[in-house]
Amino acid sequence: MSTTQELEKEIKLIDKELSNVDAQIAKLKTIQRQLQEKKSALKKSLDKLKSDKLASVDWGGTTYEWSEKVSETLKNVFKLQTFRPKQLSAINSTLSGQHTIVVMPTGAGKSLCYQLPALIKPGITVVISPLVSLMEDQVRSLTNKNIPAKLMTSTSSKEDSAAALNLLKDKNNDVKLLYVTPERLAKSKRFMSNLQKCYAEGRLQRIAIDEVHCCSQWGHDFRPDYKFLGILSNMFPNTPILGLTATATAHVLSDVQKILNLQGCLIIKSTFNRPNLYYKIHEKPTSQEECLTILEKLLKYRYNGESGIIYTNSIKDAEDVAQGLRKRNLKVGCYHANMESDARSKVHIKWHEKHYQAIVATVAFGMGIDKPDVRFVIHHTISKSMENYYQESGRAGRDGLRAECITLYRMQDIFRVSAMVFSSVGSIEHLYGMVKYCLNGTLCRRQIIAQHFDEDWGDADCNKMCDVCSNTATNSIQLDLASHCRVLASIIQNAEAQDTKLTAQKLLDAWFLKGPVPLRHKGKEPNFSRSQGEDIIAFLLIEGYLVEDFHFTAYSTVVYLKKGVNMEALDDPDFSLKMTVRRYTKFELDSPAPKDLDIISSSKSQGNENYAVKRKAVEDHKAKKLKTILIDDDD
Ligand code: ADP
Ligand code: MG
Ligand code: ZN
Repeated sequence: MSTTQELEKEIKLIDKELSNVDAQIAKLKTIQRQLQEKKSALKKSLDKLKSDKLASVDWGGTTYEWSEKVSETLKNVFKLQTFRPKQLSAINSTLSGQHTIVVMPTGAGKSLCYQLPALIKPGITVVISPLVSLMEDQVRSLTNKNIPAKLMTSTSSKEDSAAALNLLKDKNNDVKLLYVTPERLAKSKRFMSNLQKCYAEGRLQRIAIDEVHCCSQWGHDFRPDYKFLGILSNMFPNTPILGLTATATAHVLSDVQKILNLQGCLIIKSTFNRPNLYYKIHEKPTSQEECLTILEKLLKYRYNGESGIIYTNSIKDAEDVAQGLRKRNLKVGCYHANMESDARSKVHIKWHEKHYQAIVATVAFGMGIDKPDVRFVIHHTISKSMENYYQESGRAGRDGLRAECITLYRMQDIFRVSAMVFSSVGSIEHLYGMVKYCLNGTLCRRQIIAQHFDEDWGDADCNKMCDVCSNTATNSIQLDLASHCRVLASIIQNAEAQDTKLTAQKLLDAWFLKGPVPLRHKGKEPNFSRSQGEDIIAFLLIEGYLVEDFHFTAYSTVVYLKKGVNMEALDDPDFSLKMTVRRYTKFELDSPAPKDLDIISSSKSQGNENYAVKRKAVEDHKAKKLKTILIDDDD
């Protein structure tokens, strides 16, 4: 029999061995993680290489066996003269049986990329689309062109659904396009089984997935049911999939490929430059009244008689701003997700008919706005990302004529937005991308947008159509932030020592020797304006010298600022941090906006051709009947 001591000794030995094993497991796990990371990076490179190789083929040719029929169909069925850039490439690639993702800005003409090929070969094209109103619109327009098309949604009547299901099985049916919502696909076993029959008989010609970015959580309007679409490529290996989106970021695109199981597929992308949009950042006053005065002037003078959109970041803001502007005798409508759909479409119509000059809206006013002559999009609060900003501002100037995109910016709004979005992945980085765009005073705004889309539009592509390029005076000064950084760090430390947390506003107060005395900086007041102080704090935030610290009360989220990891660099006596502080450029609020748009065509500037929405498009739009579009997006 062992003694107690012997047993204890043995246990200790085993413990030692166990901790050895644990250490080895931890080591191996690290190696495993590193290998996995390496593998996934290599896979990504491989996919990218495959995509690039496919993209290096010229898909825009006219010598395919179907080329003649394609051009006849364009003229005789769709009554269009020429293709817009990349439309023909997309059509040829999908007719060649390639899985393809088409990336084009909103309004560039993505629908034609699946509508036209549907008529070239026998069989049926299934179109998956997230918005019922847009599908109804398309089916109506196709029917007018004598193209047999049907639609199946969760609100379709029993008879309609049965008819749609039957046509998948019916060899003699002549329907060319069947529109269906992702929910319907994901939830209807009968639909899937009929689709399998259709495929087995060789009649499933193509699957088009519109707004394909909806399957990625990184995108701006993720829809859970889109995840289900990942099974399609395995289920129907011989049917080409055609995804379409206006979301161009590399991250989202690679995510979409992964979810749909289309890694390394062809990506056809047209440029995102919108040469006719003028981009401008305008300083946002602290008081709502002053803010309203700016909006009032813009609406009364700069955009007199023109239509536009004012985006706010909350329902309350939308209501307040709309009411404030009405009090100043302006005709504006209000639009947000809490309104009944009837009320929403009424507002939409009144705006279309120019009864309202502007709609004051949350981002719920989005997909499906089809008004070509939107002359201004004003952001009362910054968007939550560059992606969102591009989409929202992009609703201006669809007719190709000059339009303006004005963003009212001040530091405080960063925290209003971050408090709303911080819980979702990547949202803070996205927001900081937007802040960077606002703080910028030296680079062409288009260049920042281009960087975001992994494009290079070159300098010539702006043509003085942004506040930075159109400004002749130097509108920025260089600052070394080292000493300011030290002051801010000491203010935060001092507050922490007193068990106090500082909001950005309080930090600014203490820095400018205002607010509670014990929190105030003990040295001199900065020799620049408070608004420049705000820019410095915002800059330090996006550069990781300050970080946001979220606290929750019963009613709201409070955002405090803490020292970020990069502050550690302050220990280095040679520490230096350069910032270009921009000055706001002059902007005439009370005289009409310039009307003419003299786009210089440069060889680099594919933008003009690639986004060829000129007079023709205006006429097209005018000829179209007014559409009432109900948006089922949430706030
Ligand atoms: P997207 O889906 O890319 O936002 P749509 O497919 O809805 O754009 O098309 C926008 C508008 O452009 C529609 O009115 C459409 O008829 C028009 N359009 C598309 N292709 C052409 C073309 N090749 N020539 C003229 N107009 C076109
Ligand atoms: Mg579309
Ligand atoms: Zn510019």
